[in-house]
Amino acid sequence: MAYLALYRRFRPMGFDTFIGQEHVVKILKNQIKTGKIGHAYLFCGARGTGKTSAAKIFARAINCLSPVDGSPCGECEVCRALAGPNMDVLEMDAASNNSVDDVREMRDKIMYPPVNGKYKVYIVDEVHMLSASAFNALLKTLEEPPAHAVFIFATTEVHKIPQTILSRCMRFDFKLISTDKLVRLVSDVFDKTGKSYEPAAVAAIARAGAGSARDALSIADMCSSYSEGTLTYNDVIEVLGSADRRTVFGLVQKIIDSDAGAALTLVDALASGGKNMAVLAEDVAAELRDLIVCVTAKNPEKILFLPEAELSEKTALAARCEPHRLLRLLDIFTSQSNAFRFAAHPRIVMETAVIRACNPDKDYDADALMSRVVVLERELAALRAEIQKTPYIAQESHISTPTEPSAAPVQAPVQPVAQPVAQPVQQPVAPPVQPAAPPQPQPAPQPAPQAVQQPVYQPAPQAAPQPAPRPQGGEAYAVPPSKLWGNVLRKLRTNGNAVLWTVCCDVRADVQSGTLTITVDDEAEYKMFTREDHFKTLSETAASFGNYTVKIVLGSAPQENAELNRDIDELKSVFGDALEIKD
Ligand SMILES: [Zn+2]
Repeated sequence: MAYLALYRRFRPMGFDTFIGQEHVVKILKNQIKTGKIGHAYLFCGARGTGKTSAAKIFARAINCLSPVDGSPCGECEVCRALAGPNMDVLEMDAASNNSVDDVREMRDKIMYPPVNGKYKVYIVDEVHMLSASAFNALLKTLEEPPAHAVFIFATTEVHKIPQTILSRCMRFDFKLISTDKLVRLVSDVFDKTGKSYEPAAVAAIARAGAGSARDALSIADMCSSYSEGTLTYNDVIEVLGSADRRTVFGLVQKIIDSDAGAALTLVDALASGGKNMAVLAEDVAAELRDLIVCVTAKNPEKILFLPEAELSEKTALAARCEPHRLLRLLDIFTSQSNAFRFAAHPRIVMETAVIRACNPDKDYDADALMSRVVVLERELAALRAEIQKTPYIAQESHISTPTEPSAAPVQAPVQPVAQPVAQPVQQPVAPPVQPAAPPQPQPAPQPAPQAVQQPVYQPAPQAAPQPAPRPQGGEAYAVPPSKLWGNVLRKLRTNGNAVLWTVCCDVRADVQSGTLTITVDDEAEYKMFTREDHFKTLSETAASFGNYTVKIVLGSAPQENAELNRDIDELKSVFGDALEIKD
């Protein structure tokens, strides 16, 4: 007996052994059980998804005298008659018979009633290949079919079928078969043929089948004739011609490492070996797709069906790359398919793609820029983490950070005398925030406190004895304390706060330690100033000139009169409250 291909030998004879397409099978079985058979069916979907097999089962099942759960029994006289060559189930390949004459012949044949069963079935494969006039001829038959006629059209390109035909057909969409179903199919076939195999080998075959049962079984066929004993994973890899898969993986590795030179060397090696550049781009894209699955999916093993070692290798590589960059790389290699088709030198297209992929910084599209932003964000986050580790910055950054860099080189060497006074707390943390210090020969901790303190105290020497930590000058305040009040008054006036401005002209104001103290003489004025809206206006105006806050005081003088107050207190302590003080 001549060798029969596995996919023919194991073609399902009933819906019970049909794999995948449960949504289609369920409806067809119901139609058979209820006897509600249509005149025209359209099976569409990718190749090898079971369209023709389903059509053949359906053609026999609707004729079977005693179908079993919607499948042909295989034993009745009709089933036996239809198992061999017969006149009731006819097939036509529209790819090679696409003329009007072919359709007319088909029309004539279907007019004759069936010989064995109840229906005469015409299965037209690749129906989208029919010419326009052939479709028109077919349409006539579809409009008024004889009662016994059933057409089953199969196509991989449903969009090429005229609307007039589509509207007269019951349409079924066949999906790609999942890899785990293909794994079961292939292991089942190997079990039945007595072929021993490694599970990884079967997984590789199913993966290569890419959703097509016919492809998976064809590959299984090749593999089982290739290996004498147990079929191994490596056998399958060799049969599939995937020996250069390692090179492709290496190429992706180099691309991720942005090593354009090494990547181009690999492209050269593959091109010299006769590899088609368009196929190489597809292989690289497939590899990148695997990496994206590894880095995004929770269960990549269930999606990729790869041996463990290979899966962990890919996962490790994927982890080295931003998911966003992987998407960008994938886009680079998938978007080239048209370029390859029309390119005079496909190798140049490939090399350009590789160089673009290796150098996001020489690329100005949004994705490339995004990749660069991600890198910058990472570096920024690392820098921030580094800075937050230093307690000094965390505690007093508002004083030191803005003033220091400019002050450090000038101030520090001038007053070496003050060193012992330096606060010990600040010493250990000063160096990291003082990048401007290199010209100084001294050990870092010593000049550092100087640099911190100088700008704080120098511009306002009167503040020095005070313990208040707030700066009196420097860059923390846009306007120095001495000029604050004048600026506040001017701003109140120019901003149209005439009432407030008028009363402000009549009060005493003093700025100490970043606080603008407004002293009013009577309660009415005090209420006026502390009214929510007025106080808010004052606070905002003051704050617009720096880090100033506002305080309203009734009666007593601010710190400007501290000495006087101290004297008064002293007098009071001697003479008691009976003492009256006049302004
Ligand atoms: Zn039967």
